[in-house]
Amino acid sequence: MQSNSLVVRKYGGSSLATTDHIVRVANQLSEICRDGTSVVVVVSAMGDTTDELIEMVSSITERPPGREYDALLSTGEIISSALLSMALQEKGINALSLTGAQAGIKTTAMFRDARIENIDTDRIIDRLPKGGCLIIAGFQGINEDQDTTTLGRGGSDTTAVALAAALSVGRCEIFTDVAGVFTSDPRICPRARSLIDISYDEMLEMATTGAKVMHPRAVEVGQDYGVEIHVRSTNHPNEPGTIIRKEAQMEKEKKARAVTHESNVAKITIRGLIDQPGIAASLFEPLAEAGVSVDTIVQNASEEGTTDLTFTVAPDLLVSAESVVTRMKTELLARDVVTNSDLGTVSVVGSGMTNSPGYAAQMFRTLTNAGVNIDMISTSDIRITCVVDRSDVNRSVIALNEAFELGITDE
Ligand code: ASP
Ligand code: MG
Repeated sequence: MQSNSLVVRKYGGSSLATTDHIVRVANQLSEICRDGTSVVVVVSAMGDTTDELIEMVSSITERPPGREYDALLSTGEIISSALLSMALQEKGINALSLTGAQAGIKTTAMFRDARIENIDTDRIIDRLPKGGCLIIAGFQGINEDQDTTTLGRGGSDTTAVALAAALSVGRCEIFTDVAGVFTSDPRICPRARSLIDISYDEMLEMATTGAKVMHPRAVEVGQDYGVEIHVRSTNHPNEPGTIIRKEAQMEKEKKARAVTHESNVAKITIRGLIDQPGIAASLFEPLAEAGVSVDTIVQNASEEGTTDLTFTVAPDLLVSAESVVTRMKTELLARDVVTNSDLGTVSVVGSGMTNSPGYAAQMFRTLTNAGVNIDMISTSDIRITCVVDRSDVNRSVIALNEAFELGITDE
């Protein structure tokens, strides 16, 4: 199969929100098929379908069995794939819809958060109509027991990039409701602008610190298999969008590339812990066993043999984290446990910031000038994150976008 005659693209849920939207997407696709190009199209569920399905579950049970949960959630994407296929056939385009299982997308066993292990591309190539569309339901696959699994919220991006990798197509187009990857959230910061390109490493840091535009695992798959990911707007297909690739080619001189944020963060502090070897391990092991994924961790310098340890978690994990920590408190002879669930984070990301201490100083100065108190700080090679009060998050994002000159320039 010539790669230039095969395109892999994904449409997000907002681009498929109603049947009118679906017909519009079918029009776009029929244009591409006109010259004989075949398209593997990955679809998300229509609009808020997945949220609605989850709501139905919660009105029945607090502890849904994983198998049935995934069987239900996978239906959202099946609906949009079948409808899009019909809309295309209505226009005389050769089209066929497949569920994840029918497309041979094999995953690990874990329900709700399965990983793609391999894709049976023969099945896909066999059924791909020349000059037509094969529509594959995103976000799902099948495990060894032939049960349907889902890939975690936002997982259709990963389906699309994994398909491009398996089919050896060097690029995957992600069509969404925004015109690319922005320097910060344009709903908070109207002067944010769309980036021309960004590296996998930067995008991964952005996705894990709050940028919702891409599923982090999709970026990892793109990086591992060298698939360029082109994020584009469904409503403005002529806009350039953003290319996620190995190294950003453009704007190299811009060392800070983006400001991301998270508006919902909780923290737990354990005070008066006896400072001795093994304390951190005996606290974080049971947290990991309870499925609590911890973000920033800060341990204070110890004083008179005791220390304080603070870590942040997503607010929906606070209850489980607190119960583990309270259980461990007595065992570890800690003084007390305090929590705060009114926090957020702001992060500055950019690979050019490596070994440039001036960026941290500039970030802290900017937040000080904006009257924002910094609660905790963590860094990676290419990222600086500050934990702040939730009510300060938006102000911080705007100030940082401005300070690092990431906004629209008035030329
Ligand atoms: N429909 C799923 C979700 O809402 C998967 C996706 O849209 O990527 O999370
Ligand atoms: Mg998404």
